[in-house]
Amino acid sequence: MNVIHRVFREDHGDEIARAWSLIHPLPFDVPVEIQDRPQLGPVILDRSDATAQAHVSTVPREAFPESDGEIGVIRITDHWTLRGERERAAVLLHELIHLRLFTGRLRANHDAMKATRRDIPPGREVQYDLADQLGQCVQEIACDRYAALRYPSFRGPYFDGERRGYYLQRDGYLVGGGEIPQLAAFFTLYGLIRAEAGLRVYEHDAGVVAELARLRERYRDELRRDCGGDDPLFARLCAAKDAIINVDVERSDRDENDYMELFRYVMMSL
Ligand SMILES: [Zn+2]
Repeated sequence: MNVIHRVFREDHGDEIARAWSLIHPLPFDVPVEIQDRPQLGPVILDRSDATAQAHVSTVPREAFPESDGEIGVIRITDHWTLRGERERAAVLLHELIHLRLFTGRLRANHDAMKATRRDIPPGREVQYDLADQLGQCVQEIACDRYAALRYPSFRGPYFDGERRGYYLQRDGYLVGGGEIPQLAAFFTLYGLIRAEAGLRVYEHDAGVVAELARLRERYRDELRRDCGGDDPLFARLCAAKDAIINVDVERSDRDENDYMELFRYVMMSL
């Protein structure tokens, strides 16, 4: 499936043009067209809550009958316009990299998780949401590792802005379900994944590294407790965690099983 990329302009044309100039030239090709007010389909990457600055959506096929591919849209929110221009540029870059990487394995992975949504029986939605958020964090980690590797000149603005909140876990990236005891280990694991993944991309910031190292120790201890002395379980969860953290951003061949383990563990856990 093709993805044709367009930027949703809404009323922020000047801000987008400025952000665009700050991050260009890009180290990758993304065909982009500035588009006024396309119809929007579901959000596919990044949060859609009230404080999100931007996310990737699809556009209904009928909105662009001339196109044979699916259309991905970067949607800028009003929250984005409240930020400084370097942070706005960094968020735009983040979304562009999402689109750049949304092929092959990462795409197959995403689709496989979403495809199971319709089979979820009533009452299991919280479990699915947790599985989905854990499974999808590979998209975030891939995106940020790609930025660190391929775009070091923008490392400061990119990692000092919104991304810091993600790795230091200062806002609500994980919602609901914390009260279900059988799922506790997965909540802890989500924290551990972000702490360890963050350590890979924040080498340049000693303060953040120290805080991430503390979080990593805390979540590792907590995970051992959550596993209740079941060492094989602890080892399996850590292996699934490592597979996500070590996501290879240079490979795009299609194997939808690569990062599905954690998603399946959560779905089988009740
Ligand atoms: Zn993202």
